[in-house]
Amino acid sequence: MATLDGLPPLREVIEKHGLDARKALGQNFLFDLNLTQKIARTAGPLEGVTVFEVGPGPGGLTRAILSLGAEKVIAVERDSRCLPALADIGEHYPGKLQVIEGDALKTDFEALAPANTPVRIIANLPYNVGTQLLVNWLLPKAWPPFWQSMTLMFQKEVGQRIVASEDDNHYGRLGVLCGWRTQARMAFDVPPQAFSPPPKVTSTVVHLTPRETPLPCQVDKLERVTQAAFGQRRKMLRQSLKPVGGEALLNKAGIDPSRRAETLSVAEFVALANAL
Ligand code: SAM
Repeated sequence: MATLDGLPPLREVIEKHGLDARKALGQNFLFDLNLTQKIARTAGPLEGVTVFEVGPGPGGLTRAILSLGAEKVIAVERDSRCLPALADIGEHYPGKLQVIEGDALKTDFEALAPANTPVRIIANLPYNVGTQLLVNWLLPKAWPPFWQSMTLMFQKEVGQRIVASEDDNHYGRLGVLCGWRTQARMAFDVPPQAFSPPPKVTSTVVHLTPRETPLPCQVDKLERVTQAAFGQRRKMLRQSLKPVGGEALLNKAGIDPSRRAETLSVAEFVALANAL
């Protein structure tokens, strides 16, 4: 059967290379090239853009990114069984696909970023390491960061935590960190049956762009106050923030000690961090 890009259908690729999905590697593959194109399109026009992808697997999303005209894809994949399938894609798009075999958690993405083209990150992330990768990409000291946007698939519950702001049940440390440094939105949901094998829960694609000038604040201090505040999210802040200065800290930051963590805006958490 013909495909959008002239390469074989993904089911054939999986069969040819014996890529039975491994749970330990968070492998839930996407077969529908219309869907992978929809994900890639969420990142905006890709002409002249270098895309970093984590976990290309058999290459469904990689193919979509390349078919939409990306200048280059640099993909980090841990499972060596996927490399021959990815090599076939590389041959179809000469000079445009660089595959790095390795652990994305140990990869220095900033060092891989080319000097002369913008970088966007697009990935259907392995669920077991997705949040950690996101946090790593949010933490560089230099800001704006090396990436122009991130378009990432997560379990829906994680997506809700990423985009949450105050007075939302999903608001917590991740929401504060993402809200401080980025503007994040959920683009669309993807049902379990779109994957093989289907995961237990619905997934969602999140799109994040960096804030040009996040409120000035030291990230380790922000971490300390959000950890204490959300560690006891049902308690009043005068109680939960005791380990980091309690009522005196709250007074210094001008925040009512009887409030609870989930009612504080990102700007108020920044004020607390700066009062530490
Ligand atoms: N992009 C493919 C797709 O959409 O069909 C596969 C996505 S699958 C959810 C996650 C992929 O990440 C798998 O190919 C898996 O082998 C890879 N992976 C898992 N842990 C990894 C890690 N630490 N570093 C790099 N890749 C990893």
